[in-house]
Amino acid sequence: MDIAIKRRLSVFLFIFLLFLSGCAGVPKKGEIAAFDINGTAYYPLVRICEQKDIAWEYDTLTRSMTLAYGEHRINLRAGESIALVDGRPIHLSHPVEIYQGTMAVPEKFREQVLDVVFGRPQAVPTTYALSSKLRKVVIDAGHGGVDPGAIGRSGLREKDVNLDIAKRLSLILTQGGVEVVMTRSTDKFIPLPRRVEITNNSGADLFISIHSNANRVRSLNGFEVYYVSSGVSDSKRALSSAKSAPLNLEKAYFSGRSQTIKAILWDMIYTQSRAESIELSHSICRSMDDSTGVKVIGVKSAGFQVLRGPSLPSVLVETGFLSNSDEECKLKNSYYRQKIAEAVADGVANYAQEAVLVRMAHK
Ligand SMILES: [Zn+2]
Repeated sequence: MDIAIKRRLSVFLFIFLLFLSGCAGVPKKGEIAAFDINGTAYYPLVRICEQKDIAWEYDTLTRSMTLAYGEHRINLRAGESIALVDGRPIHLSHPVEIYQGTMAVPEKFREQVLDVVFGRPQAVPTTYALSSKLRKVVIDAGHGGVDPGAIGRSGLREKDVNLDIAKRLSLILTQGGVEVVMTRSTDKFIPLPRRVEITNNSGADLFISIHSNANRVRSLNGFEVYYVSSGVSDSKRALSSAKSAPLNLEKAYFSGRSQTIKAILWDMIYTQSRAESIELSHSICRSMDDSTGVKVIGVKSAGFQVLRGPSLPSVLVETGFLSNSDEECKLKNSYYRQKIAEAVADGVANYAQEAVLVRMAHK
């Protein structure tokens, strides 16, 4: 867990403890006292989670809460009457409220959402398998066809390096039992919007774009992973997605819904997927550090179009600088490219494993 989340968590815990102390003695053990909000019975969500052994995380910035139980995730936001359940929207009888400093859900939430989702039998893996968390990954080899991307001094073309590493990564993941969708598997030009469309229609869990860097400063070298920057407003992205994007979510739910509701949903999806993208970026950098001896510049954020579009956790890997002769020379070597692909795959595997382990630890 990163420090920011921990801090948010502890702030929330503090508020929660204050709340508890204020109500000391009121509820009997095992019984959760209801509040009345505008004539509707509400329950404090953290108490329900505590009772049902559900792990939760509260984000003060977006006033949203994520519940995790086994493989299931539920995302809620104060003021909205929608719950995102494993990425699918469920309409609630009443909006989620903040009451006495804690998130409160309408009475029906338990039977409408919790009992349905968390009541399902769980298959918690005793031994870790990559495919238990990741079913499908989109791998995007940057550039291609008429667009060569960066070109090194000795003529090495980015599009070729990207495709080779993407194919190697695809093979490793496929062997690990993960289904892979490639936005291109040949030297072909694919426009960015088409790549985003392929990704959003794929039903995949992750999007990984492979690139190689270039810079006027030829001494620059190293490996970087990007996630979409927070400078790009989630709400803005959400609005444009609501207008144009083909949603992966239930079509029936969306027909007849207003743009506003669609935009809220997208906003919730983006908030959640950015947090996961950051986790994944760090995990990939750690693996690269451990196993290749490559200089790791680290994790950065950017507003790349290819990262702005997809609604799933997305990262862009810059494998090295073609503008640096040393690195160009290394990237020419297939053994080196294999090492890069293996390290990215390890990073993905560790990210998936951590996600599973964290959820198990919370149980
Ligand atoms: Zn590129």
